[in-house]
Amino acid sequence: RSKELGKNTYSIYHESMEADLAQRILIEKHLRTAIQNKEFFLLYQPQINLQSGKVVGVEALIRWNNPILGFVPPDKFIPIAEESNLILRIGEWVAQECIKQLSEWKGTRFDSLHIAMNVSSVQFENPHFLSFVNKLMQNANVHNHLLEIELTERTVMNNVTENIARFNKIRANGFGLSVDDFGTGYSSLSYLKKFPLSVLKIDKSFVDGIPQEEEDISIATAILNLAHSLKMRVVAEGIETKEQLEYLKELNCDFGQGYYISHPLAIIELERWFHTNDCYFHAFPLKEELHV
Ligand code: C2E
Ligand code: MG
Ligand code: MG
Ligand code: MG
Repeated sequence: RSKELGKNTYSIYHESMEADLAQRILIEKHLRTAIQNKEFFLLYQPQINLQSGKVVGVEALIRWNNPILGFVPPDKFIPIAEESNLILRIGEWVAQECIKQLSEWKGTRFDSLHIAMNVSSVQFENPHFLSFVNKLMQNANVHNHLLEIELTERTVMNNVTENIARFNKIRANGFGLSVDDFGTGYSSLSYLKKFPLSVLKIDKSFVDGIPQEEEDISIATAILNLAHSLKMRVVAEGIETKEQLEYLKELNCDFGQGYYISHPLAIIELERWFHTNDCYFHAFPLKEELHV
């Protein structure tokens, strides 16, 4: 019986692996033509100053709508794009879109908002990437400090010696540099001290447990103390409730983003959101207080 079971388990495993591989191949095939067919677009999620409620910037998040596959989430296609190097071209498209948006905001009431752009390690380690971004910024005549480059903790801790040089160059050029999903990878604290980072983003998995889980509060507090003593600022990601927002504000967290504040929005919705909120998050500090 156990033999039979083992065999079944094997074949199920085998079939699911084959299905997975077939799906990856299919995704990669459609990714190749996604840019020319204009299947990508960006959504922007507001980031607020938790102490004042004022919007300080947005994070750009890519979306892919393919006529055959439908909406494929970035967690699914970005890893495939990274393995096939298609991420380089996709990343250039993302940079072009973000910088076009910054240039459209120039001279409007939105012209102090920054855009945080996710950059994968394959892109970041490509020697042409930074000069490509720099040139786009120059051509658009936009201040470099309005673009924040967001790297995951894993990317930051990969090739640390090369990264120190890259980070210094990025910061010398005036760009912001933030560490995404902080606390989920492993960071060497001695390197963190040497890296000229501007922002740490507390991963959603810790924000989820606030305020009920003692351990998550301890981790968030430790990240805040560490970041502030190294002159970095902190964004809490994935804020879904009023209680989380208020607790993080009390902990002296600098910035926040999450569904409680706003979902990622298309540019038209975002500008409408800014107008109706007067560039402040209206439910701040308490929705109820404003409407009684
Ligand atoms: P991330 O950079 O950590 O982005 C945060 C993710 O959390 C986004 O998912 C966002 O929509 C989602 N999110 C924001 N607030 C909340 C909340 O309150 N609750 C919940 N449950 N989720 C929230 P999304 O857009 O699906 O992106 C997933 C990941 O894909 C991103 O994680 C990032 O690693 C990657 N990604 C997205 N856009 C790009 C891009 O343009 N380039 C690259 N290289 N990667 C990207
Ligand atoms: Mg991010
Ligand atoms: Mg994140
Ligand atoms: Mg993530």
